[in-house]
Formats: sequence, C-alpha cells, structure tokens
Amino acid sequence: MNPLRSLILAAAGNDVIRRAVAAAPVSRDVVRRFVAGESTAEAIGVTRRLVDSGLTVTLDYLGEDTTDEDLADQTVLAYLELLEALRAEGLAGRAEVSVKLTAVGQLLDERLALTNVSRICAAAQESGTTVTLDMEDHTTTDSTLRVLAELRGTWPTVGAVVQAYLRRTVEDCARLAGEGSRVRLCKGAYAEPGEVAYQDKHEVNLSYVRCLNVLLAGDGYPMFATHDPRLVPIVDARAAHHGRKPGSFEFQMLYGIRPDEQRRLAELGHTVRVYVPYGVRWYGYLMRRLAERPANTAFFLRALASR
Ligand code: FAD
Repeated sequence: MNPLRSLILAAAGNDVIRRAVAAAPVSRDVVRRFVAGESTAEAIGVTRRLVDSGLTVTLDYLGEDTTDEDLADQTVLAYLELLEALRAEGLAGRAEVSVKLTAVGQLLDERLALTNVSRICAAAQESGTTVTLDMEDHTTTDSTLRVLAELRGTWPTVGAVVQAYLRRTVEDCARLAGEGSRVRLCKGAYAEPGEVAYQDKHEVNLSYVRCLNVLLAGDGYPMFATHDPRLVPIVDARAAHHGRKPGSFEFQMLYGIRPDEQRRLAELGHTVRVYVPYGVRWYGYLMRRLAERPANTAFFLRALASR
C-alpha cells in the first residue's frame, strides 16, 4: 500500500491525532467539501438540492466504532429523526439511509447492533424508504453479513456492501446476487492486511471487474460505487453485455467527489445515488477520503496552513 495512504489511515484510528485535528481551526469549507453539515436540517437541505438536480441520495449519520451504548442509542435516534424528516419533506422516494453497524453497537454486542438497526429499518419502512448496511473493516464482515441475513428476513430490501479489495468478495457476490438483493460494490476504504486483501491497486481493479460481472449476471440490483474513470465505462459496457437496462442497476458516488460525472451519468438516464454524510463525528470519514487521493490531502493541509 502507498506509504502516504497507510499513514493517513493509521491517523484515522489514532485518538491523539483525532483530538488535535478536531481542535484545529479547520476551515468549514474543507469539511464541507465532503460532509453535508452537522444537523438533520442541513442534511435535508443538501438532499433536496441533489434530488432537484436529478440525483438520488443515501444519507449516513457519521459515527463509527462506538463502545458506548448511549451513543449507539443517540445514533439510532438521529436516524429516526432523519427518516421522519425525509417522509415529511416528500424525499423518501429518492433518498435512503446507510448505516454503519459499529455506530449502533456492533463492537459491544452483535445482538445489540441487530436490535438497534432493526429500529432504523422499521422506521425506514414506515417512511417509505430503504436501508443499506455499510461495510467496515474485515474483522466485522462476517458479523455484518449475519445481521444482514437476519434483517432481510423482515425487510428484504436491506442493501449489502461488498469490498473488491477483500479476497473473499467474489464469493460473497455470488451468494448475494439473488433476486431482489440490493448490493453495493466498492473497492474498500480501510487499511487491511495482505492475508485478507489485495494490496496492489491493479489487483483491486481486476477484482472489482470480476465482482461486477458476477453481480450483473445475477438477479439482484447492483449498485456500483466508484469514481474511477476506467471502471465507470466498464460497468456501462458489461451492463449492456448482460442485457441490463438503466434502472436495473445504479451508479453511486460520494458527496463532493466528481459532481460533474454524477450529473453526466444521470443525464444519460442512469440512476445515480450520492452518498451524503452528515453529523459532528466527521473525522474518520474525512481521513479515509484524504487517504484515497493525495490531492485531497494537499487541499486539506493548505486550508489548515492558511488559518
Ligand atoms: P480510487 O482508486 O480511489 O480512485 C480512482 C480514480 O477516481 C482516481 O484516480 C480519480 O481519477 C478518481 N477520483 C477518486 N477520488 C477523486 C476525487 N476526490 N476527485 C476527483 N477524482 C477522484 N468503502 C467501504 O469500505 N465501505 C463502504 O461501505 C463504502 N461505501 C461507499 C459508498 C459509496 C457511494 C462510495 C462511492 C464509496 C464507498 N466506499 C466504501 C469507499 C470506497 O471503498 C473507496 O474507498 C472510494 O470510493 C474510492 O475508490 P474509487 O472506486 O473511487 O477509486
């Protein structure tokens, strides 16, 4: 793995660095490039703007690795407030939510996370929308897939996420490609050891292509989460090869990354979903975005230095 990427990802898990960065007078603009705001109202405002421009949305209330039961409960309450606001604003048909199980108690107890995320799924159903379970580091993969299977017993539309950098993922794709199954394919954003994950970018890309073929050949609804200008046309070409029409799969990109490409794909008739994070706990998310692209890091450091 690129040494700068490893360094930033190590910083993402380092509490001392987290406190130092959080205390620094980081320009609102830096965080705001990738994060919609801190409140439900701000998240709804960004969602409205994206939906009005022809995009769809998945909202993530930021937070992860919670070891405090009260904080897990607060996260659930934040999602319930958000889902009610999506319903009240008439946005639920175009916006769903993404949930990290470690934000709702997975590190404390898998059953607690299941209970908590079930409250979110029930509220999503009531509001007329869906939930996708984000995938986190590889130590949580089996647990997350177990929780997914339980949730789908009641809410079959709950979306899964698979990460192409994991060696196991092509087999997970085959298991998850059944009828009605919503599956997001991404490259993967965590620092993972070589035993479980491809380290070379090219190998990750090859794995992404193998996985996308399995998902497109299946009967589910694949969601291709990538900004990679080489992979986007491959998705398009392989979707055509598998007889997939726009609407039977979607593209997904992160808020603030390649917005022109998001609009271009939507104008071609594709469903494009923007992943919109919001909330006060933006640190881990921001660090992963910086690790992905040196230009983002330079942008961040320049903004810090200019204070
Ligand atoms: P990269 O290899 O990072 O980038 C490829 C190319 O994309 C770059 O060379 C560049 O041309 C372009 N690009 C990338 N970033 C930028 C930028 N900032 N500006 C301009 N061009 C850029 N990861 C998880 O581990 N779990 C999840 O649940 C998860 N959910 C995700 C949901 C969505 C909707 C998306 C889009 C990503 C998600 N990720 C998740 C993150 C993902 O795993 C990658 O870390 C991230 O998307 C970067 O990978 P990439 O496919 O864009 O390719």
